[in-house]
Amino acid sequence: MNNKGVTVWLTGLSGAGKTTIARRIEAELKARNYQVEVLDGDLIRTWLSQGLGFSKKDRDINVRRVGFVANLLSRNGVVVIAAMISPYQEIRDEIRAINKDFVEVHVNAPLELCEARDVKGLYAKARSGEIKGFTGIDDPYEVPLHPEVVCESGEETVEESAKKVIGTLEELGYVRVAVEYQI
Ligand code: ADP
Repeated sequence: MNNKGVTVWLTGLSGAGKTTIARRIEAELKARNYQVEVLDGDLIRTWLSQGLGFSKKDRDINVRRVGFVANLLSRNGVVVIAAMISPYQEIRDEIRAINKDFVEVHVNAPLELCEARDVKGLYAKARSGEIKGFTGIDDPYEVPLHPEVVCESGEETVEESAKKVIGTLEELGYVRVAVEYQI
């Protein structure tokens, strides 16, 4: 298949639903025979960015690495879905500048909800001081200024959020319009 690649950049607080929504989009697009790769923040930190911490400098290096890899893949026709907290606007803009085909998605859930979900138990650790510099607690999250999509993951189902993103990819011509969804 000879399709145009794109980087779909999911940004949002820990526990907002980036990984969950990324995996739904991946499943749908794979079912439609697209080449898809998910670059998930947690996995990236285990492999590509092992040893990096959570200072602004290390976060920026981490995000830059993923932006670079996303560009390598997307320019070769892959639909790349990056699920990264990526809390700083400046670095997200930098990634947009190097990725010609770039769709920014804000996975937006209130901090209270993310904290109540506490999928990985990290908010509890941040509140107790065991983890320092945790986004949303004692490190900032800069809300995206001009995202192509906002998923209200506290109000929508995972399917609704995934459909919103795929709908935008269809509108922008990265994905052909499908009559039937698999999800
Ligand atoms: P993140 O990757 O942003 O840290 P995760 O996807 O790992 O977040 O966790 C989000 C959690 O919220 C999951 O347990 C998921 O099942 C749940 N969840 C509930 N509703 C939604 C929704 N509408 N969108 C995404 N996740 C949701």
